[in-house]
Amino acid sequence: MEKATRSILVIEDDKATLNKIKNQLKELNYKVACVMTAQEGVDYCIKNIVDLILLDLGLPDKDGMYVIETVRSFNNTLPIIVVSGRTTTESKVLALDAGANDYMTKPFSMDELLARIRKELRNTYTEEKHLFINGNLTIDYDAKTIFVNGVEVHFTNFEFKIVTLLANNLGKTLAYDYIINHVWGKDGQDQNGLRVFMAGIRKKISRDPKSAKLIRTDIGSGYRMNKIN
Ligand code: CA
Repeated sequence: MEKATRSILVIEDDKATLNKIKNQLKELNYKVACVMTAQEGVDYCIKNIVDLILLDLGLPDKDGMYVIETVRSFNNTLPIIVVSGRTTTESKVLALDAGANDYMTKPFSMDELLARIRKELRNTYTEEKHLFINGNLTIDYDAKTIFVNGVEVHFTNFEFKIVTLLANNLGKTLAYDYIINHVWGKDGQDQNGLRVFMAGIRKKISRDPKSAKLIRTDIGSGYRMNKIN
């Protein structure tokens, strides 16, 4: 399987720090998006695929805590690393309790930050993953086969593409248009068409009642595959 480029969103209003982080990440072939306000950060996460957030807390419009709380309201798994000038234990506890995965204080060591980024991404992604298992759903990428509760279920080519796209972005809501662009290319399908495909996929997956909640609709925004324990 092709190694996916990981997308990192940097939310930081200090230009020098922002550029330093951005340049370093780009050099290491991460895809980097940068915003300087809390609201832009949240909006970006809703509209785009993000694999990890680096978050400053002292932002011009809202506190960075707003980003943690808002992102956690719709995504439980997206790693968030706080990089903040606030050094008190209380600030760290607040951020971690709100759902941040890690917390670094400024001034920070770039090498240490990079190691912490790698650690978080390792937790959510395995490079040599040919088999995807989530609850009763198993995808065999090599054989292009899907099993529901151990039984092979036939999925059409487009259905297979949709399921693997959702699986590869486990826990993230993918916008309708994002899915359409990835599966059919631009203008390949409208949202109603996608809905028909999703209904077909759901029907096949929900043969097993335990898998019924696997794929969720976030009304008005898109679809998400939930992590099943
Ligand atoms: Ca700041």
